[in-house]
Amino acid sequence: MRQGEAPPKGAWTGAPFGGVKAPEPILLPDPAGRFARTAARLARLAEGHPMEGWLEFLAAVAGAQRAAVETPFSFARPDAGDVRLAVEAGLPPIAADGWRRDPAWRDGLRALLDRFDQAALPAAAASEIARLRKRSAAGTEALADAFLRGGVDAADTGAAFWVAAALQVSFARLAAGLDANSLRLLDPRGLCPCCGSTPSAGVVRASGQTPGARYLHCSLCSTAWNHTRAVCITCGGARTLALRGIDGDAGVAKAETCDECGTYAKLFYEAKDPGLDPYADDLASLALDVMVSEAGWARHAPNPLLLVG
Ligand SMILES: [Zn+2]
Ligand SMILES: [Zn+2]
Repeated sequence: MRQGEAPPKGAWTGAPFGGVKAPEPILLPDPAGRFARTAARLARLAEGHPMEGWLEFLAAVAGAQRAAVETPFSFARPDAGDVRLAVEAGLPPIAADGWRRDPAWRDGLRALLDRFDQAALPAAAASEIARLRKRSAAGTEALADAFLRGGVDAADTGAAFWVAAALQVSFARLAAGLDANSLRLLDPRGLCPCCGSTPSAGVVRASGQTPGARYLHCSLCSTAWNHTRAVCITCGGARTLALRGIDGDAGVAKAETCDECGTYAKLFYEAKDPGLDPYADDLASLALDVMVSEAGWARHAPNPLLLVG
């Protein structure tokens, strides 16, 4: 099933002897909707925010990602047999670090840069984009490899930001072409069942078929998958979890800390704000990351746009 879709009438997804419906395990992305929502939410969150200019910039990036979704898509998709083999082996079918990346993703990168309004960019960022456009195909592929394997050189972080944004678009489009029924949740559960990446954040749903269920949202391909609440998404521990938030705020964003592994993951509550977007709200709640990391917990995984931003 796709994010935002209602299940077909009459489809029973619950336990055979319980009255409670089981959450849909995997929600594939609708790429256009995902980036449009993130752009709109970032623009709204930017108003009066201490980091207003930066959030407006990220809203413009998400808007360019949304526009890049419209460009022709010539990706070779994984065939159903390859997907089945990967799933049977417990592996993600479009693994971020293993999938034979189609060079067409670089067309997506060009489309993203073409659609980004550079008028408002500081000169340094504009010249970074100009340098990236001139980079050789091999050099751009090497940068994508470095990003996907988590080893970008300090000198390349500016260019890697745009590579990361383009890969988010390409992987969301690839994931959208999969069949959710052919996929399985991975073990470890904290990793994306499509591409094997870590999530950006989790959302506790207030709407849909299973209010109260937690979904993790992939930082690369935007797939959402169900993950049991009150279980650490990094180590699976449940004994020392605590929810921490910023006193006096609206309670939309919490950090779930785990003392067993020393990490935290962010969680957003739809009941507190039905308009939230896990990607936008993650970027706009950096103060919570600062508070929790100063208290000694490490984020379960970096946000790809912050890692290099
Ligand atoms: Zn993914
Ligand atoms: Zn843990």
